Amino acid sequence: MIYLDHAATTAVSKSVREAMLPYFSEDYGNPSSLYLFAQKAKKAVEDSRRSIAGLLGVNPREVYFTSGGTEADNWAILSAFYSTMGKKSSPSGSEAEQKSSPSSSEAEQKSGPSGSEVAGSDVAGQKQRQPHIICSAIEHHAILESCKFAESLGARVSRIPVDSEGFLNLEALEQAITEDTVLISVMAANNEIGTIQDLRAIGEIAKKHGVLFHTDAVQAFGQIPLSFSEMGIDLLSASAHKLHGPKGVGLLVIRKGVRLPAFLHGGAQERGFRAGTENVPGIVGFAKAAEEAFAGMSEREKRKRELQKLFFRRLLEEVPGIKITGVNPLEASGEKRLSGNVHICIEGIEAESLLLLLDQKGICASAGSACASGSVEPSHVLLALGKSHVEAYSGLRLSFEEDLKEEELEFTVKAIREGVERLRKE
Ligand code: PLP
Repeated sequence: MIYLDHAATTAVSKSVREAMLPYFSEDYGNPSSLYLFAQKAKKAVEDSRRSIAGLLGVNPREVYFTSGGTEADNWAILSAFYSTMGKKSSPSGSEAEQKSSPSSSEAEQKSGPSGSEVAGSDVAGQKQRQPHIICSAIEHHAILESCKFAESLGARVSRIPVDSEGFLNLEALEQAITEDTVLISVMAANNEIGTIQDLRAIGEIAKKHGVLFHTDAVQAFGQIPLSFSEMGIDLLSASAHKLHGPKGVGLLVIRKGVRLPAFLHGGAQERGFRAGTENVPGIVGFAKAAEEAFAGMSEREKRKRELQKLFFRRLLEEVPGIKITGVNPLEASGEKRLSGNVHICIEGIEAESLLLLLDQKGICASAGSACASGSVEPSHVLLALGKSHVEAYSGLRLSFEEDLKEEELEFTVKAIREGVERLRKE
């Protein structure tokens, strides 16, 4: 098998598996239990939190473990919305109090606690403000659907367009901000085409206007350096299974000073903001995977860049009628694309049909985001780049790691060429 779908998920590495194993069996205690036996599990969770916080350069108290990237994204979007609804109407009735920061207090001032009334309604002669959320048009469904849900609850959402390479229109972003804007959510790197956003510029705009800035870093975490202070990030989502950690565990970083309501209600886990017995083996595995990903980041990056250029060059040479989607890695700006991402549109082809032919040869690839496959909708990312529906259906993503062998790369290029020839004849 040639696995070219690392953006969908990765295998749990041997070291990660070994680190997790004791917490399934010998050390299975519940971290909330008071006896000594369970303290091992508690210590494992807190050591993991410290380790990940260290990698990200944040305080361990700012790291909240979740069930994955989707939950972290839901938390960021929906809690930003709920936070405008005042103490009585927030789901917990209390806010994730972490002492006010300039950004949060300004944001709070702008949106103001709106009491228990429905956002946007006219109560006691006073017009209630309608909370406003800004995201990019190419966010993952975890963000887009959370925004849609927030809209159904009364929020207003602006989806900011991107250019043909997938970069956010920063002018449109700034123009969209109003005094009711509670959150800007822009992904660090796109899961389909690998475009890396200018988080620093987005963070500056957010700070200038006193609006919270969330980034979905599920694809970027462990792949590219991320700096909270330099990029002005207030909230960040990540997920373990994209970096050889287990599925079903992720995190939301909530910077000190950001006031958000609790997301899951129940016990006092995660400082009362995300109730539920901790996924101890998952959290331990996440930390181990993150340590490994951060340790070798720059060497892996170098090798993946070489492979990426080779992949694109060979595809352009061998397969007629293909177009590079997004940033061209063969040009100087190429580093603004995740190094393990190849995405092409192939003239006259439906990528879903090509995927089946590749699968017959043992090649695993994707025609869009894994989470959207199975649906007949063309990729919203490709449409946002200005592609036609026909082009959007022809998009093929290959996501790889530094251990991809050049023979495997050549085998894949040949399989794509043959598959395309066959489909064009049909
Ligand atoms: N955000 C992005 C950018 C992703 O690529 C994914 C998964 O593909 C998610 C969020 C969802 O993460 P999870 O699978 O951990 O729920």
